Amino acid sequence: MALDIPVSKLPRVIVIGGGFGGLNAAKALKGKNVQLVLLDKNNHHTFQPLLYQVATSGLEAGSIAYPLRKFLGGAKNAHFRMTEVEEIIPSRNEVKTNDGYIKYDYLVISTGASTNFFNMKDVEENASELKSVSQAIDMRHMFLQVFEKMLLTDNEVVRARLMNFVIAGGGPTGVELAGALSELRRRVLPDDYPELDLKKMRIILLDQGTKLLASMSEYASDHALKYLEQFGVEVRLGVGVKSYDGRQAVLSNGEILPTETLVWAAGVKGELVDGFDSSLIAKGNRLKVDAYNRVDGFSNIFAIGDVAMQEDERYKNGLPGLAPVAIQQGSHVAKNIMKLVEGKSPEPFKYWDKGSLATIGRLKAVGDLSKTMHLGGMIAWIAWLVVHLFYLIGFRNKVMVFSDWIWNYITFDRRVRLIVRPYRKEKIKGDSA
Ligand SMILES: Cc1cc2nc3c(=O)[nH]c(=O)nc-3n(C[C@H](O)[C@H](O)[C@H](O)COP(=O)(O)OP(=O)(O)OC[C@H]3O[C@@H](n4cnc5c(N)ncnc54)[C@H](O)[C@@H]3O)c2cc1C
Repeated sequence: MALDIPVSKLPRVIVIGGGFGGLNAAKALKGKNVQLVLLDKNNHHTFQPLLYQVATSGLEAGSIAYPLRKFLGGAKNAHFRMTEVEEIIPSRNEVKTNDGYIKYDYLVISTGASTNFFNMKDVEENASELKSVSQAIDMRHMFLQVFEKMLLTDNEVVRARLMNFVIAGGGPTGVELAGALSELRRRVLPDDYPELDLKKMRIILLDQGTKLLASMSEYASDHALKYLEQFGVEVRLGVGVKSYDGRQAVLSNGEILPTETLVWAAGVKGELVDGFDSSLIAKGNRLKVDAYNRVDGFSNIFAIGDVAMQEDERYKNGLPGLAPVAIQQGSHVAKNIMKLVEGKSPEPFKYWDKGSLATIGRLKAVGDLSKTMHLGGMIAWIAWLVVHLFYLIGFRNKVMVFSDWIWNYITFDRRVRLIVRPYRKEKIKGDSA
């Protein structure tokens, strides 16, 4: 069965992945003279930059996700199927999903990235990661349950272990998560857990490199470090995690750090689908593409966003894995496909770098507008809020997030402190309490 997509005389464009890249490609192909088929293993788009706020009880999960069917809005030429793509068979212009095969005239691969544990199986099994809505909800449950557990043990060794919150990876996700946890510690947890001595709660941010936010300027790295230290986060540079069994992390300097909450935010790799020769796969498990985002050697297969490795004169190791890259490539590839359908020549892609921002906490953020123009403090924080609201998909989501932010700002509260589905880390044997 070919996923029951109606037969059409129009050329069929399959877009795999409804993330930032795929969604923008789909947006530009809706209502055009092609048959658009959007495939995703989830039925929603995830606004990944705000996952950490779901994990730290600041936002509802539903405010940062958007149903893909609603996004297509009933466009007559568009079809969505919730299915996982297993393989691409370029010789037959066909995609194999776990629900059947489907042929394409043009294919856009926008499957994003997954967490890279660098072959450390025990870390992969026992640490938490933050890539999807369900992982963010799990993480929220994990954090909240740990505080409940602290009150159910009189064993000081166990309680000390539960008090250690460790984040590996000092990129934007690690920095933002550490900042949000420190706000919970300062503003929210003391009211909820007056019986706990929260001065003993440690938030430890580890990074193997020499600075935080390595892809940003020295200004941004230095200010992020300063703000985190002001918030009482222990930042340890030049130290990584070598193994983790769910109870203790062994660090690269040999130190043993007891913790039941290790978050792994120290690496990503392209979420490749089978079907391509290894010669087409570049560093970081990404598909090599040319200036038109065509996968090397194919005229009708395009890859965009985090799964694509596109070099230009400014980015010798490929464009960065950022939402704006995926967004711009998505709409550009769609325009090029329409040009090809109309018998015109495609145009090369040029990334417009509008700068980058990272928030650390209340009134504290950092931003690089250009190589020489940097922002910090409240101005960067406001810029961060505005940019994230602008890119969030869906008017209702924008309103919900904005009102939650106002509420959180005025009341110092984090509304979503709910454990609705008990979280159990399967790999931890025995009861730690
Ligand atoms: C926690 C976090 C914070 C971030 N913060 C920022 C930030 O502040 N600023 C910024 O610019 N960027 C940020 N990023 C990076 C940004 O989110 C990515 O660069 C962007 O999402 C890439 O878009 P994409 O379309 O390539 O992939 P994604 O948005 O990841 O979308 C991939 C889609 O493909 C689907 N998919 C994957 N495999 C299959 C398959 N086999 N079959 C069917 N469907 C499949 C997935 O379900 C998903 O919907 C962050 C990322 C994370 C994880």
